[in-house]
Amino acid sequence: MAVRLNFEIRFRFRSGFHTTGDRVELWTDKAVALDWREGENPIIPATSIKGWLRENAERVLRSFGQKVCDGSQPATICGKCLVCELFGHPRKKSPIRFEDAILENSLSDARTNVSLSRYRKTAYEERLFTTEVAWANGFVFKGEGFFSTSQEAEKAATLLWLAARLGFAIGASRSRGLGWLEFEDFCAQCDGASIDVASLSKIASSWRGEEGA
Ligand SMILES: [Zn+2]
Repeated sequence: MAVRLNFEIRFRFRSGFHTTGDRVELWTDKAVALDWREGENPIIPATSIKGWLRENAERVLRSFGQKVCDGSQPATICGKCLVCELFGHPRKKSPIRFEDAILENSLSDARTNVSLSRYRKTAYEERLFTTEVAWANGFVFKGEGFFSTSQEAEKAATLLWLAARLGFAIGASRSRGLGWLEFEDFCAQCDGASIDVASLSKIASSWRGEEGA
């Protein structure tokens, strides 16, 4: 019988969040579009957060000495590593269904940016542009997945936890100081029973000890 994993990751914004313009690209967090849903609360699409978590998961596991592929280069996706197992690959979908995150009680304003000449450090007048910025306290990112064993579910929770804790900017404008995220809280349940941080840490240390598994 399948084991159900539920998780919730809470993030806090340390600044505004750039909302306009760019396309959402799979596997990367460079472009994040928010959907204002008829003037209601903006959302961060699940694919954006998933791409960002995947990138973080790769970085964490690599720092542990694990071999993982590079999701930003689709041609090199191996379909075998821990990251591929959790986030999916061309031959197999992710066992987890990620939900869009809703930014509640958000306000928006516009910020004017100036493009600077790289060489002369002067502003090009014609390159003044504005970006819309959403201000919100943070958001909760939720998901659910089914695994064949509780060990598999706990492994998935551990990787999500590690990826979320790494934290950095989400959104297209991180170089302009917008959208910095702070990890706040992670909770996961396996068939309704909470997975404690000690179990997550234990799995994380086992990965730290194994070379290139
Ligand atoms: Zn892989």
